Order: sequence, then structure tokens, then C-alpha cells
Amino acid sequence: MTDFDFDLFVIGAGSGGVSASRRAAAHGARAGICEEYRVGGTCVIRGCVPKKLLTYAAHFAEDAEDAAGYGWSVAPPSFDWATLIANKDREIDRLNGIYLGMLEGAGVSLIEGRAELKDRHTLDIGGRQVRAETILIATGARPWTPEVPGIEHAISSNEAFHLETLPDRVVVVGGGYIAVEFAGIFHGLGSRVSQLYRGEQILRGFDRDVRDALAGEMLGRGIDLRLDCQVARIGHQDGHFVVTTVQDDVIETDLVMYATGRRPNVQGLGLEALGVDTGEGGAIVVDDFGRTSVDNIYAIGDVTDRMNLTPVAINQGRAFADTVYGGAPRTIDYRFVPSAVFSNPSVGSAGLTEEEARASFDVDIYKSSFRPMKATLSGRQERTMMKLIVDAKSDRVLGAHMVGPDAAEIIQGIGVALTCGATKAQFDATVGVHPSAAEEFVTMREKYVAEEAKAAE
Ligand code: FAD
Repeated sequence: MTDFDFDLFVIGAGSGGVSASRRAAAHGARAGICEEYRVGGTCVIRGCVPKKLLTYAAHFAEDAEDAAGYGWSVAPPSFDWATLIANKDREIDRLNGIYLGMLEGAGVSLIEGRAELKDRHTLDIGGRQVRAETILIATGARPWTPEVPGIEHAISSNEAFHLETLPDRVVVVGGGYIAVEFAGIFHGLGSRVSQLYRGEQILRGFDRDVRDALAGEMLGRGIDLRLDCQVARIGHQDGHFVVTTVQDDVIETDLVMYATGRRPNVQGLGLEALGVDTGEGGAIVVDDFGRTSVDNIYAIGDVTDRMNLTPVAINQGRAFADTVYGGAPRTIDYRFVPSAVFSNPSVGSAGLTEEEARASFDVDIYKSSFRPMKATLSGRQERTMMKLIVDAKSDRVLGAHMVGPDAAEIIQGIGVALTCGATKAQFDATVGVHPSAAEEFVTMREKYVAEEAKAAE
């Protein structure tokens, strides 16, 4: 008999922590978990889920516009923000209840409160001492903003989900996926949106063609996207905000939202005193099995700042539990993880970007850009972009990328193919689904040759 209250105690009941504790309990561990805010974590409470609901809401504007081309007469639609937010909140409450039920059903004990590590086996949760043989840190990340004069006037994505009214004018600062998603949401719902990004193109880390195609589509839809544009200060006067850029541009707005990155939630956890190593931005350093520099303490998910996506945190949590409690050690293969950006239009990506692939392989590129069929009758000027990156030597498809409607739905299946090691010949041998945009992924035959290369031939 040990003097531990639990075999495993997890700090943070988000995507990673909930999945790890449930799987550990299923393997027979006495598992506990604590949460300082709401069970479900970022994804369910103030991330993927509410964001996707707002994205759906934003799309109805275009659907109503497009309907006329298909013979529908639609009275000018009107939109009520309060209804959307109330319905969204009800759905989040429902999901929060489901998560609570899942923990209870799995036999995982929940303690509400903020945890701090006192020693390598002891936690303080709101004055209550808990001892566990193994501790898993799954505390996620929080929005980070730079130090700009007037930054106190800006909100982050956390507050964007709870605005009382829809602002007429919005300035979104940042160029990552959360910034482009919220620019699309506010624009779709009727706000006039400026997006300011200090870099030379949005979506750093994504394939270059994806970045250029999405930026073009956002500008085409009327988002005032400004690149190489840095905020110097934010002022507040006469009931609105004034954003002044380093280039001395002045933008009056009703809301300033910063989406300039996230930092691991490690503050106040007591890591330093215990000797748990952290790296850039405070990210907890772990080995391939999630073990930290203190051998009974593990970490998973965004707090380790590896690939910050919900399905990755869930998989890391399950892999941890299978390794430590299931007698089946396993690690995660990050190479072909598919992901999406729910911008307007959406982005789907799996595998390597062209830039990453060129660094290690001789590559052939296949690209296609076309007007989606739906746009032909609606008259909407938009294009879908698709791209395959192929290892010229082995014929293996190394990367697949898309900008266009339904990209998230399409890229999931492509992710399966890439994970299985599909070759371009196997893509070509696959019969297309017609008529669909997705079939383009199996009908691209011509290798793409850049104009400069053609001229040099
Ligand atoms: P989290 O889900 O953040 O959970 C950590 C939990 O720990 C939180 O509930 C927190 O309150 C709690 N906690 C922190 N410190 C303590 C403490 N000391 N004591 C007790 N509890 C503590 N990912 C996708 O895959 N797809 C998307 O479309 C997507 N959209 C997103 C949109 C937004 C706006 C944001 C912000 C994120 C989005 N993400 C998306 C990312 C995704 O939400 C995260 O990758 C995922 O939630 C990480 O899970 P986690 O378990 O590591 O942390």
C-alpha cells in the first residue's frame, strides 16, 4: 500500500488531460484531474468549437448572396449577434456537461481549482494537498500580446466569444490561423475588418501558395489586409479606438483584437523549484513519451508547444496512458498530421510544405487553380487552389494543400493516403468523385514548371 491518493494526477482538464486521464483509468489506474476554469479546456470552451460555430454563422451571408444566381429571391437578410452568442453558449454548456459526464463515467476524480506543484509527488489545489505517484501537466496555453502602448484596449480570442454586440469596425492584429479565422468571421457577419500583420505574408509556416492564395481571396472579399504593417499604439477617444501604425497610418475602429500567438501555461506551477526544464516561451521540455526532466512528471499538449492542435493533444494523452499504464509504449508520428484553417475560404494541409520538402528531397509539384462549380451560377469571383508535392525519386506524395470551400473535409481523407505512404501513381489510379472539387487531387497530371524555369529552358 502506497501513501499516494492517486496513481496519476492530471493538471488541466482540456483536450489532452481529459483523454489521458480517461485512458489511464481504463487501464486500471486510480486517476484524478483538476481544472481551474471549465472542463473541456480551450478547444471546447473558447477555441475550436465556438470558433467553428461562429464560422458557420458567418458563411450564411455568402450563401444568401449566392442564392439569387440559383433562382431564389431572398429578402435582405439581417443578423442578430445576441441570438448567435446565446445559442453558442448553450451548446458549449451542453458539451461541458458531456465532458463532466465522461470523466465521471470513466471513474476519474475531478477536483475544481488551480494546482501548484509542491514537490514531485504533491500538489496544492486551492489549499487541498493531493499526492500522486505520477503527475501529468496538461495546462495548455493562453493568448500572448506584445507590449504596445494602449494594448489594454485590445481583446484576445477569449473575449471575442463574449462580446455584447457585433462591432461595426474591427481591427484584427496578427497573421496566424486564429487571426485569419476571426477576420473572416467578423467580415462575414457584417463588420468592416482590417487585418494588420507585421510579416510579409499571412500564415507563416504554411505552404507559400496557400498563403498567397488565401491572402488574395481575403482581399477579394473586401477584408482590408495590410502586410508589413506594425501597430505603434492604440488610443481611445470619443467611444472608439484609434490604431496608429509604425508607418503612421491611422485606423479608427470599434474593436481591436490581438491574435499574435499563444504561450504555454506554466506560470505559478512551481516548475523551476522542482527542476522541470522549460524552453522557449516557457514550453515544458519532454522526450518522445512526454516525460519531463523529472522522471515521474510528464507533460502533453500545448504546454509543450510542439504541434498545437486538439487531435494531437488527445493522441499525446492516449499515447502517454498506453505507455505508462497500458504496457504498450508508443510515440506519435507528426509527419502527415492533417490540419485546417477555418478562414473564408478554408485551408487544408497535410504533410510537408514545398519549402520543407525542397530542403530534403528532389520534388515534383502539381498545382491546380479553378473556379468552384458553385460560383459559376452565383457569379462569385473566387478560385480554389490545390497542390501536391511529390518525391521525384520514390513518387511518394509528401504534401497536399488546398485553399477553397470544404478544404477541411477534403484534406482528412488525403491525410489517410499520405499516412499510408501513397504515391502519385496511386493518386492517379484512384477514380475521382464527379463532379466535386476533391477529384482534382486525383486528376492533376501536368508537373508544374515555374515561369522562370520555362524561360531558362
Ligand atoms: P487546453 O485545452 O488549453 O486545456 C488546458 C486546461 O488546463 C485549461 O482548461 C486550463 O483552464 C487548465 N489549467 C491551466 N493551468 C491550470 C492549473 N494550474 N491548474 C488547473 N487547471 C489549469 N485546434 C484544432 O485542432 N483545431 C482548431 O480549429 C482549433 N481552433 C482554435 C481556435 C482558438 C481560438 C484557439 C485559442 C485554439 C484553437 N485550437 C484548435 C487549439 C486547441 O484548442 C489546442 O491545441 C488544445 O485545446 C490543446 O489542448 P491541451 O489539453 O493541451 O490544453
